[in-house]
Amino acid sequence: MSGPLRLDPDTLNACVSCGLCLPHCPTYRVTGREIASPRGRIAAMRAVEAGTAPIDAEFRAAMEECVSCRGCEPACPSGVQFGSLMQGTRAALPAPPSRRRRLAEQLGYRVALPHHWLLLATTWFAWLGQKLHLVPTRLGLPRLSARSIFRPLAVPVGGAPDAWLFTGCVMDAWLRDTHRSAARVMAATGAAVSRPPASAACCGALHLHAGREHEARTLARRVIASMPGDAPVVVDSAGCGAAMKEYGVLLDTLAARAFSARVVDFSEWLAGRTLPNMRTTGVTVVVQDPCHLRHVQKVHGAVRRVLAPAYELVETADDGLCCGAGGAYSALQPELSRRILTRKLDALRSAAGGADPIVASANPGCMVQLRGAGIDARHPADLIAEVLDE
Ligand code: SF4
Ligand code: SF4
Repeated sequence: MSGPLRLDPDTLNACVSCGLCLPHCPTYRVTGREIASPRGRIAAMRAVEAGTAPIDAEFRAAMEECVSCRGCEPACPSGVQFGSLMQGTRAALPAPPSRRRRLAEQLGYRVALPHHWLLLATTWFAWLGQKLHLVPTRLGLPRLSARSIFRPLAVPVGGAPDAWLFTGCVMDAWLRDTHRSAARVMAATGAAVSRPPASAACCGALHLHAGREHEARTLARRVIASMPGDAPVVVDSAGCGAAMKEYGVLLDTLAARAFSARVVDFSEWLAGRTLPNMRTTGVTVVVQDPCHLRHVQKVHGAVRRVLAPAYELVETADDGLCCGAGGAYSALQPELSRRILTRKLDALRSAAGGADPIVASANPGCMVQLRGAGIDARHPADLIAEVLDE
């Protein structure tokens, strides 16, 4: 019988408190606090479920300080599914006490993200604001490009393609040039590529992060219906791809499970195909593994396989520790996000021998986070498009 968080008791009790996950947890690494570790958070969840502790401000803070990077999952010998515990806990938390935050969440999750035209219009205003120096840098927006915003993506909508390119919501608004690169590379392999209509843009990953499961389910159904057939669904955002690969669990239907089986990360898809004309550059690139590519999708090796013929790849020595982006985390927990980012920057620069490196990153959130710190972060699709001889 579960308690107020309605967590699965078997999942919750699978933790044996061994602590092997602690070094893999970014919030524990930067704070050293037990309550900021996976083990501490699970202990707090258990206390609430057992009725020996309330859902108070301290409990909420411990849950909201988690980046949801899921770096603790592969490190856990007991196979604790921490992501599902955190998702369930956040879904059970009462609405935040701040009226301003409640309003911002309603506008973000219910209005802007599911209505792509509105997100694009907001992006246009943000671009104008950046031009007029009216947008504070602390908001974490990337440098927006008018060329990228106003030029539509030259990929047909619908039909019966060899592969779908899922374009998403925020990434299409802020980093559409990366979709252009992905489409160009996919076409260079000989594949006929289509994209879903903009009405099915948002995959619901950010909603899941925030525990808004009901809204995430609605968005997932919309995404599934937008790309019928058997063709692979190629995703160039690691966070979106991870969420879409888990639609089967989220919706628990045959159709959702079949759809999830079709979802592939861009590099995962490309690694199984041949690119006829690719130049070797000798340029050094440090590989940054987005958490949801490494810990959830577990296909980070594909990034190395597709980039290695053209670039000199260098690894970081931090076991893929998070960069602190985490969906809306950098906006909601700016101080912790900054401290986690500082560690990542040290690891990236150290891998590059102290210089500011070119970094390969397969997730828009990480790209924005790293670019905001002055790092030349590029998506593998951009790096490959640059070395195509056509
Ligand atoms: S999901 Fe990430 S931040 Fe959260 S407890 Fe696990 S390792 Fe720590
Ligand atoms: S979550 Fe796993 S690794 Fe972490 S303390 Fe519990 S059993 Fe150990």
